[in-house]
Amino acid sequence: MKNNKVNRRDFIRLSATAGAGALLIPNSVTASSASNPATSEYPIRTLGRTGIKVPIISMGVMRADNPNVVRAAYNAGITHFDTAHGYQNGRNEEMLGNFFKDKPRDSFTIATKVKFKQPLEDNFEKGFVEMFDLSLKRLQMDYVDILYAHDLTSQGIVKNKRVTDLLKKLKTEGKIRHIGFSMHNHNPAQIDAAIDAGIYDVILLSYNFKLNNLKETDEAIARGAKAGIGFVAMKTMTGGVEDAEGKKQINGQACLKWAWKNEHIATAIPGFTNFDLLDDCLTAAKFPEMTTEDKNYLASLSDKEMLFCQQCGKCKEQCTEHLPIPDAMRAYMYAYGYKNASLSKETLLEVNLVQDACKNCGKCKVNCPSGFNVSEKIAAITPIVNIPDVFLT
Ligand code: SF4
Ligand code: SF4
Repeated sequence: MKNNKVNRRDFIRLSATAGAGALLIPNSVTASSASNPATSEYPIRTLGRTGIKVPIISMGVMRADNPNVVRAAYNAGITHFDTAHGYQNGRNEEMLGNFFKDKPRDSFTIATKVKFKQPLEDNFEKGFVEMFDLSLKRLQMDYVDILYAHDLTSQGIVKNKRVTDLLKKLKTEGKIRHIGFSMHNHNPAQIDAAIDAGIYDVILLSYNFKLNNLKETDEAIARGAKAGIGFVAMKTMTGGVEDAEGKKQINGQACLKWAWKNEHIATAIPGFTNFDLLDDCLTAAKFPEMTTEDKNYLASLSDKEMLFCQQCGKCKEQCTEHLPIPDAMRAYMYAYGYKNASLSKETLLEVNLVQDACKNCGKCKVNCPSGFNVSEKIAAITPIVNIPDVFLT
């Protein structure tokens, strides 16, 4: 469902003029609204103590493989672009590197992420630096604005001295402007751990109207914001669909507007992959107030089973085979919600989940509070690991 649509012709005109402006007026990203006239069309927020002024709408590049969509986003006034070392086996960073190589470095900010095994392996530091250096090479940049330690899963790892020492060292070397971490597990305690650690400038977290620990999350975000941490929201659209079968696209505008109600969420990084979805996101950012229709729509979904897994981990304690079920549910959402089979396969391979993972088990012991039939979903998604990449979307 769409509302408040920006006229298509207006959008193209805006994109074209904004692009010209961006090339003519190099400026500081902290004043990005001045460097690209189109940026001033959206509310601007400050990303915590980084001081970066960013439109409430940014681009999660993860699934995009068309540089023209990146170009349209940049020309339309988006200044912040989010990628990761692992996305599309590095092609995502390469695409951004090729696009941004001739753009003023202060007209955009880039965040990338590097993942590592938890608990830490002996060669963690070496492996991390090698991956990050490769990311910089692909991006054709000397530094990134934000480096996220990707998908941290506990308070202990957030505060781990080897992790914090390494991130601080990379910052001192000038390869990172700001340190961050991403988390998929909706664990507010990790935000408090970040406050204690004192080195994190930004946290990228899942944030949407389906979170079942919203109150605790909002309270932790407020504490983090008070301590100077900037917050970036991902998974605002709960997987992109509004049904458990993955058939009906969600009203992304309503979802984004809901996330922006929290003043501490500086920006959101929806993963649009085409011009229509970009157009939708830009329209939401121009008219960010929730309408009664938006509120009623989201309320109608509050109790509905969708594809969004709370990542609460309760299933892991119940599963007799100790399967990484939250990761499997994420992989399921990537395939059926995002329609991104490659990312789904990549996620399963990262946790070594193979086909027939449940075959030694009788009746499933897992009682998921979200009502997911986890064994059915695992059986449906794991065969994807055997499909050659060339056949995957
Ligand atoms: S599958 Fe259910 S129990 Fe497991 S993490 Fe997701 S919501 Fe929690
Ligand atoms: S059926 Fe699968 S998910 Fe359920 S308890 Fe057994 S191994 Fe775990």
